[in-house]
Amino acid sequence: MRALTVEPGRAGSGAVRVVPEPVVAEGEVLVDVVRVGLCGTDAEIERGEYGRAPDGADVLVIGHESFGRVARDAGSLKAGTPVVASVRRPDGCPNCLLGEQDMCLWGGFLERGIEGLHGFCAERFAERPEYLFAVPETIADVAVLLEPLTISEKGWRHISVAQRRMTVWEPRAAIVAGGGPVGILAAVKLRLQGLDVTVVERRHKPEKEALLARIGAGYAATSVTPLAAVAARSKRIDVVIEATGTSAIAFECLRLVGANGAVILTSVTGAGRSSLLPADLINQNLVLDNILVLGVVNAKSDDFRQGIADLAEAERRWPGFLSTLITRRVPLADAASALPHDPSQIKTVVEVGP
Ligand SMILES: [Zn+2]
Repeated sequence: MRALTVEPGRAGSGAVRVVPEPVVAEGEVLVDVVRVGLCGTDAEIERGEYGRAPDGADVLVIGHESFGRVARDAGSLKAGTPVVASVRRPDGCPNCLLGEQDMCLWGGFLERGIEGLHGFCAERFAERPEYLFAVPETIADVAVLLEPLTISEKGWRHISVAQRRMTVWEPRAAIVAGGGPVGILAAVKLRLQGLDVTVVERRHKPEKEALLARIGAGYAATSVTPLAAVAARSKRIDVVIEATGTSAIAFECLRLVGANGAVILTSVTGAGRSSLLPADLINQNLVLDNILVLGVVNAKSDDFRQGIADLAEAERRWPGFLSTLITRRVPLADAASALPHDPSQIKTVVEVGP
């Protein structure tokens, strides 16, 4: 079968290659892939900065934002059922054994399409049923957005638990830094939670402003309005979600949130950049305002299930909004050309099957 692959560690090695059919082990489910989303991690892997092939394999099948249909009846999953697979697979640590591999204690986890396991951008894949999430047909067209939404689902779940540190917390206003797919899906999650949300990105894009207005979210560009001025429009910012991919902005975000608020950091910044920061001011704000700072990566099954409910609710409240986030579709044959990051797109997907 054909698959989008890289030779890990070799920049520019992305290519559609013929790879062996997946071996369907006892109890596993064969999935026919419909489409796969591409993201910054895939671009990093293609640049040779990240990623590891399975033991004994020369190439890694990439793609971890999946959507497909069960190929043939397997237990309670009937043929044709639309499904999304999660990404991380457990090691033997206490959290992993309890299904919480997103909070792995030993670091020996594997990740499909990233770290030691083939990904999903292939004609078919096999997976254990506990890592597959059936989605309703009503969101089948946009279910490829589930995986990038789960980061915000996890972030919201974590701050909901952590904010029980105080008796009353009533968040009203939020800023999302970054207008890419993770940022926009974070805005969707926060709008569904009833918060006033402003999405901020560097360069002003009028079409992005119009898009976000559809879900009742505000928009600002730091080229026009500094981040601090955006925050000053609200009486108090309760939640900031940072998804820009830039560590300097992540630190700037620490100064935006008001008393007892929370900052969720999601950017994986592997470039090793340094910057000069007003460290005293940032530290003082964190201390005097009881600020909670949370790094968030990956997600657990609860987040996938909540994400499915939220995609369905978003589709009901704002029909057609989610599908407009998929701005580029490429056939599998051309998938390698779509790997480098293209800032003019929101979400690029590879159309694999019918
Ligand atoms: Zn673990």
